[in-house]
Amino acid sequence: MFALIGTAVDVESVRRNAAVIVEDGFIQDVIPQERVGEYAVDEVYGGDGYIILPGLINAHTHVAMARFRGLGEDIPIERWLSDVIWPAELEWEPGDVRRWALLGMAEALANGSTTINDHYFFADEIAKAAQEVGIRAFIGQTVMDTIDFPIAAPEGGFRFFNDWVGKDELVTPTLAPHATNMVSLELMREIGEFARGRNALIHVHLSQSMGEVREVKRRYGLPPVEYLERAGVLGDNLIGVHGIYLSDSEVSLYAKSGATLVHCSLSMTKLEGRIAPIIELFERGTNIALGNDSPNPVGLMDMFTEMRFAAVLNKVWRRRTDVASAREVFRWATVGGAEALGLKAGLIKPGYLADLVLINARKAQFLPGENPHSHVVYSARGSDVELVMVNGEIVYRNGLFTKLGKRMEDLWAEFRPSGP
Ligand SMILES: [Zn+2]
Repeated sequence: MFALIGTAVDVESVRRNAAVIVEDGFIQDVIPQERVGEYAVDEVYGGDGYIILPGLINAHTHVAMARFRGLGEDIPIERWLSDVIWPAELEWEPGDVRRWALLGMAEALANGSTTINDHYFFADEIAKAAQEVGIRAFIGQTVMDTIDFPIAAPEGGFRFFNDWVGKDELVTPTLAPHATNMVSLELMREIGEFARGRNALIHVHLSQSMGEVREVKRRYGLPPVEYLERAGVLGDNLIGVHGIYLSDSEVSLYAKSGATLVHCSLSMTKLEGRIAPIIELFERGTNIALGNDSPNPVGLMDMFTEMRFAAVLNKVWRRRTDVASAREVFRWATVGGAEALGLKAGLIKPGYLADLVLINARKAQFLPGENPHSHVVYSARGSDVELVMVNGEIVYRNGLFTKLGKRMEDLWAEFRPSGP
């Protein structure tokens, strides 16, 4: 049994001098610190000046793309994909994907993400890497059928799902059609039918470029959200990502469907120079989650940075300061992601998953400490994370990945030949 001591901050409450009691993978109790003696606690972490957060849920990632960090900068998304990323991906060997996925996950974990929702090729390798590092991982094998891309063959997606469903408490397979223009209506329908029979999540890039929108309209005479509706996949098990070119009527249709929209503001500002109508989606009732997307183009798997940019860029989008408050954005990074993935997580409450993060806030940027929600979004950085717990197990502490048995410096040394 563990106790984490500090100011417990979730979207619903701030409890100072709290002790969060953890046992058997769940939060057992949240009590005033002075009562910690009531439990037979084996280990105590944190203390005065620490902040306890629900683990951040990184609802859209391609962790293995750590390998491509810094490549293809400052070019439009279609050129970035066709000239830089896809040719590099065709060179992938499964073992390389596993190595780089492990690095990307370790980075996300050390920066406070306890869950990732990954969309990539060689999904078996990503799943094995997740087991090694101990992160909670939703993983889908990327599929496409409108271009010939052997590593994304449709049968691989269904096979991966069947192989991994129910296999590991921390690894949940999903279905991952690449994007609305990269999957035919027939295949998208097939994915929908497969998902319905198995209560599976569908994770898809949606309206991430004008080229995608034009192509779907040309092929089917429909904008992307209507295409998803016609394919029978627009519902509460759908996790759409980006949505930057959604029309007003698509926003309404999407909001009514119960689907989640994952907002990756850093990735899309870098690749497309704009963000999605997140505030409009949110105001009409859409569940919003946040994701880093990938180390290329974003550069850093840090959800604190993602929260901060989401808060300020949505203010720029609306030309108003009363939208995307720190608390709302914090909700998107915790409860929003948990709702999307069907996890009882994102809050610090008895019965919730013990996916928790301990921040060392004994630093200038956390003073005077009167508004913890603001401090989490505007002052905290991934590097302030001292301890990360997934499923009640400490998987990262002070630079050591405990399950992996390696320190951050060890990983850096292993990857050094390809690094700076
Ligand atoms: Zn993506």
